[in-house]
Amino acid sequence: MKKNVVVIGYGGQGAWHADHALKSDVVALLGVYDIREERNRLARSRGIRVYSSLDEICADPAAEICVVATPNDVHEEIVVKLLETGHNVVCEKPVALSVASFDRMAAAARKSGKLFTVHQNRRWDVDFLAIKEIVKSGKIGETINLESRIHGSRGIPSDWRCKKQYGGGMILDWGVHLIDQILQIIPGKIEKIYCETTHITTDEVDDGFKLLLTFEGGARALVEVGTYNFLALPRFYLQAKKGSALITDWRQNARVAYCKAWNEADVLPVQTAAGITKTMAPRDEITLDEYDWTRPVSDVHDFYRNLVLAIDGKAEQIVTLPEARRVLRVMEEAFNSAASGTAIAVSV
Ligand code: NAD
Repeated sequence: MKKNVVVIGYGGQGAWHADHALKSDVVALLGVYDIREERNRLARSRGIRVYSSLDEICADPAAEICVVATPNDVHEEIVVKLLETGHNVVCEKPVALSVASFDRMAAAARKSGKLFTVHQNRRWDVDFLAIKEIVKSGKIGETINLESRIHGSRGIPSDWRCKKQYGGGMILDWGVHLIDQILQIIPGKIEKIYCETTHITTDEVDDGFKLLLTFEGGARALVEVGTYNFLALPRFYLQAKKGSALITDWRQNARVAYCKAWNEADVLPVQTAAGITKTMAPRDEITLDEYDWTRPVSDVHDFYRNLVLAIDGKAEQIVTLPEARRVLRVMEEAFNSAASGTAIAVSV
């Protein structure tokens, strides 16, 4: 039997969840609710039931899974209310604006015994899965440095995302996805966090950032989001002990270079205007194997498939609360680092 979903906040992402539920093999759309009448009218015009208030949803035992897709500043109050009235809850990312806020939500979940999770849907992105597979396979050895970037050129969206009071800014918007992904790839604790934010199009919130994470054992990750980049740097770049990997664009396959022999018999120098260089000359096929990584198979609907199994106690929840809290801790320290202009020693 499909489980009933109610979506709170029928905006861009809420409509995605509603559409998804209409097509899903494991959940069905029961209804939606938005504080803006125009969005409710739109839902009705699409044949979707509209609840009159959050209280009406809270009082409806048929609302088995409630999805919170409102702007970030109101996630906590809505999530806590739904959990306290006995509903399973999926909250959009970023789940909260602070660790303290998240802890109140997690406490409500523990008390209710209901399932509470975060929609970290970018765990199903094929580019992320490819780089994760490459790292986990060990084929090019231990990670030295992993760079994860998203570059756009349209500035920050001009809705609530450019307002601090609603939890706007790119660290909270894209950062939360990219940090979550990195924590899925690189094992061990983070020991140092350094972050610089950009304010090219607005002073109010960050419209981009560079975040440097140093893990125990020395692996490093650079997470960068830009909204003023008319030429984009590659999506992923991995330096490992026995090679490198590159994903230029999220629609492209991963390219892997495996260094099978360190020493070269003969290096063909590269001629530059200033003279020749052997140090920076490309390697030949005697020492380097270069190939495309087989594209991983992924279906983002597995988020809901897992959710339904987890509610019935038949599977472990994929996006766990400790994972969600860790991402928030990293973001909190990133804001602290950006504000102080210093690297922060942590154990996260
Ligand atoms: P949006 O502005 O398009 O939609 C938000 C909707 O929530 C609006 O229609 C607004 O009227 C409604 N709303 C505001 N306060 C409400 C309340 N108290 N009760 C009910 N409805 C309320 O924003 P969006 O882009 O859909 O983002 C919503 C959430 O989804 C954010 O947390 C955002 O970060 C997240 N999001 C996630 C992804 C993803 O890929 N996981 C993508 C986009 C957005």
